[in-house]
Amino acid sequence: MKPTFPIEEFRSLQTPFYYYDMELLESTLQKVSSLLSAHDDWHMHYAIKANSNPRLLRIISSMGMGADCVSGGEVEAAVEAGFQPQSIVFAGVGKADWEITTALHHNIGCFNVESEPELLIINELAGIQGKKAPVALRVNPDVGAHTHSNITTGLAENKFGISKEQLSDIMQKALSLPNIVFRGLHFHIGSQILDMADFMMLCNRINELSSTLLRQGLPVGDINVGGGLGVEYEHPDCFPYANFEGYFDTFKRHLHLPPGSHLHFELGRSLVAPCGSLITRVLYVKEGIHKRFAIVDGSMTELIRPALYQAFHRIQNISSSAPVTRYDVVGPVCESSDVFGKAVDLPQCHRGDFIALRTAGAYGETMSSQYNLRPLPKTYFSTDFKFV
Ligand SMILES: *Cc1c(COP(=O)(O)O)cnc(C)c1O
Repeated sequence: MKPTFPIEEFRSLQTPFYYYDMELLESTLQKVSSLLSAHDDWHMHYAIKANSNPRLLRIISSMGMGADCVSGGEVEAAVEAGFQPQSIVFAGVGKADWEITTALHHNIGCFNVESEPELLIINELAGIQGKKAPVALRVNPDVGAHTHSNITTGLAENKFGISKEQLSDIMQKALSLPNIVFRGLHFHIGSQILDMADFMMLCNRINELSSTLLRQGLPVGDINVGGGLGVEYEHPDCFPYANFEGYFDTFKRHLHLPPGSHLHFELGRSLVAPCGSLITRVLYVKEGIHKRFAIVDGSMTELIRPALYQAFHRIQNISSSAPVTRYDVVGPVCESSDVFGKAVDLPQCHRGDFIALRTAGAYGETMSSQYNLRPLPKTYFSTDFKFV
């Protein structure tokens, strides 16, 4: 079997950097494409915010997937990477005028609109360009996903979407505006969802809502169920793929797609998280009073998820097979939260050892910053190395 990391090749590289396993990315995309191919009316729009590395975007667009964007910059990156403009959808509670104008200019497939004032502005800006803007209304379905509170988006208390109570009025408004074409409804309940019951609840909410609206003479059109499928952060080598079968099967079994309507998905994390690792080197091993620190050259500026969400990433010493010792693995940034993991058992660490933070392909590189004037992380791809 091929080793997970080309350690010998890493030795000449400056750390920290992101390393992407392109074979894993491609097999993941193939798996998803083949599951989707059973349904002519199902479409995938990759959520670019999970990872917008141009090399990854090119591969994803070449698989024929669409893109889900949340900013004008992402719309431009999607077009640049070869995504068909008609397969680009654009969500976000606060789309600025220039972002709407940019998206109109590219003739994107759909604006996922999150409020009535936004709908009016899109109508106005589309009028200026002499265009009709395709629009889906993002509904806040008030479904709580069993995930971290910072990444649930489908509760009434969250800022996202339009409440069910206000929906039919805004739908009627959308149908009446001259520069708007109403396409359907959009939902997205959160991220890192592992319990398929959450998606089943979403299906039930959508079914109820579409029959209520239909009774009012308002057919819902296309349905976009967003993203949110979670990945196994604990055991990256045992579970390199998210539960795509279970996920798609849940929608197949529980969602009553109105005849003639299309079903859209916006997966981000589950497509790219497993293929990425942040590779860092041990700088110092410091003996504390009650603990031992492995101080590495990577930090929250390359991978902020542990500091921001107390997220777990599997940490591995990939260059040692020495007996195991317990460490707090910490970065050099001047913040107490710059900790990758506490009480982590690792083969005994020495200066220069490579430490891999696994399953870091989503919300890793895209969230990197230059805080402390640190350089942005470099990226390397498995297909650029010759494995020995
Ligand atoms: C972030 C986001 C997604 C992707 O979520 P994942 O959890 O990465 O699958 C999909 N749709 C919208 C609207 C989003 O904001």
